[in-house]
Amino acid sequence: MSYVFTPAATTSVPVVGKDERFPVRRVYCVGRNYEEHAKEMGFTGREAPFFFLKPADAVVVVNAGETGTVPYPSLTKNYHHEIELVVAIGTGGKNIKAADAQKHIFGYAVGLDMTRRDLQGEMKKQGRPWCIGKAFDASAPIGPITPAAQAGDVNNAEIWLQVNGQDRQRSNVSKLIWNVAETIEHLSAAWELQPGDLIYSGTPEGVAAVVAGDTMVGEVAGLGKLTVKVAAA
Ligand code: MN
Repeated sequence: MSYVFTPAATTSVPVVGKDERFPVRRVYCVGRNYEEHAKEMGFTGREAPFFFLKPADAVVVVNAGETGTVPYPSLTKNYHHEIELVVAIGTGGKNIKAADAQKHIFGYAVGLDMTRRDLQGEMKKQGRPWCIGKAFDASAPIGPITPAAQAGDVNNAEIWLQVNGQDRQRSNVSKLIWNVAETIEHLSAAWELQPGDLIYSGTPEGVAAVVAGDTMVGEVAGLGKLTVKVAAA
């Protein structure tokens, strides 16, 4: 087999305690999955979960103890942080029941669903796809993946984000409208999950803008801190 040019490298994420890395296939994201965040976006009630995707090469891998960098993206004047618990799928499947979801999970990580909020809002208003607001380059920073057995009780873990040392988001994963197992049930009814899929599970309230020079530090308790600096465009 030869190609007309060298294929892009597979995006991969380090795994805590292992030399082998986690190769990324797809990046699924859940919209409005914490009640207080749904409210701040102008919605109420428990609607069925909905999903969007980011390209695998939008993932920005940040090694443990290091500070990652994202460039301030083009076209936006309202670049938002969304701290999220990320679920890493190790065993694929379709129509997975919530009760069986755990055995499909390889591990968990801390991620940022970076968003060009102004462009997302404009697309929403026009009934157009969110891609330009959500699926842009470098829009998915992530820290190392902790294997599920070592991750502790992520379903009841504190989740928070500070910008330049000031609290912006602080909640608990227990406040997810659709918990991780239920999310996998819904998602796997729509797409067949495969090993290497990442699921950004949604963000709590407090989303807001960052600018060049800001440093974001976020954590899901038990999974380590994720530090990302916003560089100039
Ligand atoms: Mn999100």
